[in-house]
Amino acid sequence: MSKQVLFTMFGATGDLAKRKLYPALFQLYKKGEIAENFAVIGTARRPWTDEYYRQIIIESLSGLSNNEKELADFSSHFYYQSHDVNDTSHYHALKELGDRLREKYNTNCNQVFYLAMAPQFFSIIANHLKSEKILTGKGFERVIIEKPFGSDLETAQALNTALKDVFREDQTFRIDHYLGKEMIQSVSAIRFANQMFESIWDKDHIDNIQITFAESIGVEDRGGYYETSGALKDMIQNHVLQVLALLAMEKPKSFTQESILAEKVKALHSIRQYSEQEALEAFIPGQYVEGTIDGKAFPAYRSEPSVAPDSNTETFVAGKFLIDNERWAGVPFYVRSGKRLTEKGTRINIVFKQDPNNIFETTLEENVLTIYIQPTEGFSLTVNGKEVGQGFNIAPIKLGYRHDATILGNSPEAYEKLILDVLNGDGTNFSHWEEVSRSWELIDVIRQAWDKAHHELPKYPAATMGPQEAFDLLEKDGRHWVWQP
Ligand code: NAD
Repeated sequence: MSKQVLFTMFGATGDLAKRKLYPALFQLYKKGEIAENFAVIGTARRPWTDEYYRQIIIESLSGLSNNEKELADFSSHFYYQSHDVNDTSHYHALKELGDRLREKYNTNCNQVFYLAMAPQFFSIIANHLKSEKILTGKGFERVIIEKPFGSDLETAQALNTALKDVFREDQTFRIDHYLGKEMIQSVSAIRFANQMFESIWDKDHIDNIQITFAESIGVEDRGGYYETSGALKDMIQNHVLQVLALLAMEKPKSFTQESILAEKVKALHSIRQYSEQEALEAFIPGQYVEGTIDGKAFPAYRSEPSVAPDSNTETFVAGKFLIDNERWAGVPFYVRSGKRLTEKGTRINIVFKQDPNNIFETTLEENVLTIYIQPTEGFSLTVNGKEVGQGFNIAPIKLGYRHDATILGNSPEAYEKLILDVLNGDGTNFSHWEEVSRSWELIDVIRQAWDKAHHELPKYPAATMGPQEAFDLLEKDGRHWVWQP
């Protein structure tokens, strides 16, 4: 049955709303998840009319439908309310419009608030929703929040306290769009639906795990934001640690939100809390300078728009986390993420231990299970086999599976899945407060260590895989990055 719900989109004129949220809602509409009984109030500062807003909605759906009637029907559910989130009187207009739409579309008092705005506005919006009685306590009432959730533990705590006054944890959905991705969700399937992997998912069989989130683009037009963030906070604190928790957690009692969350939180707490000195040794920042690939030249980070010419913001991080528990003692989890790297790609490499008792004369390649998350999705397993022909030569063979592009093309985008989860009240693929706060504890010490050290940032030419120091990090452990495009 289709859902009854009123959405209120804060930041309705913004980039995220247009690129991701409206297309996601449209897909849910086409699939019948939302049909007659839904309405959307878009709010932002610009003085748009409903007609103009609907035009923007239709434009944001280009490529998704040529059916004019369908587009007109869908966009007729959208209403625009010009609104400054700091101005209390504007919430009255919002409330009146909401009351009217609730009647008109029979939304059963269910409400979802999407805060697609800068985080400094989150608590002011939440407080007004309560004080101006936009929240009625009648239907389900849920809030979706975009990253970043705070800029360190202290600011995250302040934000959480402010939100907690208004929304309970089970009403709060902190988006990490990577958690909506097919292959991230598949990590649990690979582990727990295959006894052959789960039975060797430990320190006795795994040598190390490598998580890479590589972007080939630079900061584009987001230099202003990035200057306040950097790769550590933008990627490692949220996406990378979430993936690490899924890989490292113990088997949950059942495949439910509560059990999975409990195990992820335990895994995050088992990650070694570094001292500042340890953090300096285990984490390497980097910044891209100009570089050329295939004759195409890219500028240095410091020459990008809205970036300070002497900026010390890191555009790259490589690091090593250690997990102090029975399963993982001594197994390094290497992570790296950066902009302007050689190739775009998110992958996990699980490197298995070598047989210490090799009976062959040649050295054997390590077995590696690779999980590809983007741009293509799938997995591969590198095993050793005999080369065909005379003699006895052993060579690695890669068994690979990539999801069929047409199936993937039809599979829902992350935002579509996540919004549907919110409508179903399922928080499995969202970041919970306990995870967020623990992640900040781990990240803050690294940030502080770097800030105090005042080291010159290691540099890397654009279109390479990061500074030499990131390679040295593994080399001094006698290892190497498996993925070296
Ligand atoms: P944006 O700058 O494009 O849009 C911001 C929106 O907020 C606009 O609609 C603007 O009118 C509105 N706004 C600003 N001040 C306001 C005020 N005082 N009152 C009412 N409305 C106001 O930003 P965006 O890129 O859409 O990002 C929104 C949020 O999503 C941010 O928290 C960002 O970090 C996060 N995010 C964005 C992306 C992305 O791809 N764009 C990805 C991940 C997370």
